[in-house]
Amino acid sequence: MSDSSPLILCWHRRDLRFSDHRTLHAARQISPRIVGVFCFDPALLNNQEVAPARVAYLIGCLAELAAKYQAQGSRLLFLQGTPQTALVDLAKALKVDQVFWSADVEPYAQERDRTVAAALEAAQITVQTRWDQLLCTPAQVQTQSGTPYTVFSPFWKNWREQPKAAPYPPVTDLQGLTEEERAIAAAQGTIPLPTVADLGFDWHNGFVLEPGEDAASQRLGAFCDRALSQYAEDRNHPSRFGTSQLSPALKFGAIGIRTVWQAAHLTAAGANSDELRQNIETWQQELAWREFYQHALYHFPALAEGPYRPIFQDFPWENDPDLFTAWCEGRTGYPIIDAAMRELNQTGWMHNRCRMIVASFLTKDLIIDWRWGERYFMQRLVDGDLASNNGGWQWSASSGMDPRPLRIFNPKTQTQKFDPEGEYIREWVEELRSLDPEPLVTGKITPLERQALGYPEPIVDHYVRQQRFKDLYNAAKLRS
Ligand SMILES: Cc1cc2nc3c(=O)[nH]c(=O)nc-3n(C[C@H](O)[C@H](O)[C@H](O)COP(=O)(O)OP(=O)(O)OC[C@H]3O[C@@H](n4cnc5c(N)ncnc54)[C@H](O)[C@@H]3O)c2cc1C
Repeated sequence: MSDSSPLILCWHRRDLRFSDHRTLHAARQISPRIVGVFCFDPALLNNQEVAPARVAYLIGCLAELAAKYQAQGSRLLFLQGTPQTALVDLAKALKVDQVFWSADVEPYAQERDRTVAAALEAAQITVQTRWDQLLCTPAQVQTQSGTPYTVFSPFWKNWREQPKAAPYPPVTDLQGLTEEERAIAAAQGTIPLPTVADLGFDWHNGFVLEPGEDAASQRLGAFCDRALSQYAEDRNHPSRFGTSQLSPALKFGAIGIRTVWQAAHLTAAGANSDELRQNIETWQQELAWREFYQHALYHFPALAEGPYRPIFQDFPWENDPDLFTAWCEGRTGYPIIDAAMRELNQTGWMHNRCRMIVASFLTKDLIIDWRWGERYFMQRLVDGDLASNNGGWQWSASSGMDPRPLRIFNPKTQTQKFDPEGEYIREWVEELRSLDPEPLVTGKITPLERQALGYPEPIVDHYVRQQRFKDLYNAAKLRS
């Protein structure tokens, strides 16, 4: 009986879970004979923008997903090679009926998917795709004149009113490949799940969120029970556990976005104060930022390569390599910057407030091209995501959508507001732990003290550089 059901491949990419999986659920409506596939694509793994933490997180998610497939009677197969060849060859050799996958917004993914779809369809294999990683599709949220939004506030007003689907139930009772089909798959080069080291990476520093959908779902529950009620205030303080740290799970689809939305919605429904509802709405707004940037990349793929605003096309970035190295290594002499960069280097994650502060510092104080910072973040972040990272960097550089006001963060006042006791700085900048809050927060540490502590002098003067950036910006405005 099992062999007569159509055989379906579900090609997983950034949807590494079983629950609330729109595409898998749609495939299960057609047949129980569903086999998962994941391709280790050299185009994605052998480039300069891969973070070891992200690879390790990915492998952890895949291990859990493979176990879930097995528990339901099927398998997750692994291929090494480009999907354009390896996946298509496997589908043809197995004579599968259909291949399902979830749509993506990234330019590389879209081009790849078009090629794979064309090759499969030429072999009479049906391709089915669904939007899974977004609550609202790019076509759904448009201005009244039918154009994409380029400013967040009106996008949010429209997006929040859109209907949002409930989570899909987990798929169950699958049937896997026959013995003969397993032999065919092996002959097509399926491999065991590689280790992080097999892929040429090394990551031993743990995770802010353990890989997989079980950990993500527990985190969501704990966050909604505790931190969400204080989110509006606590999210800005990097020394507090004020945010969910769900970003790696959202990046890799280890949790369904509908599940996340429903959890927020149910917490709001049970809220007994406007204040609590306001906190929840602030968090929902962050989820909308994620979608805003994904829609933006979908509609304006050129964002991946350069600035949205023409004025930044030929901006005279100074790009001093020594200043860049000091920023990367957390040796700028500005405690909050150094704490944040060291957090990133050690954990593969950085608090959002700090991402904004260090990005402003790189672009406005060091006058270094935001693309250098964008690349460095991708090389380190466990949640590194083209749309959100590019959006965050262009927002900070003022080169993106929503450019007003010209944002320049002052490291001292940011620290006074968001790390007033210097707790975050003390956690990450070991050599400053003995100092009182006042010098930590104001940065007023004498040259002698700096020397004794082995902590560098500030590499630039914030006020001088802020003025220099404004002058360059005004001159560029006049030229454009
Ligand atoms: C320069 C810069 C680079 C960034 N790079 C990335 C990146 O590569 N990947 C990434 O996921 N986020 C990125 N962000 C956005 C944000 O910093 C992270 O999403 C957030 O810190 C993740 O922490 P959290 O899961 O605790 O967030 P929470 O506060 O709990 O928010 C919930 C979710 O909403 C989304 N979200 C929150 N804030 C933003 C935002 N400003 N933009 C887009 N989505 C958001 C994330 O998916 C997040 O997990 C960047 C921001 C800046 C300023």
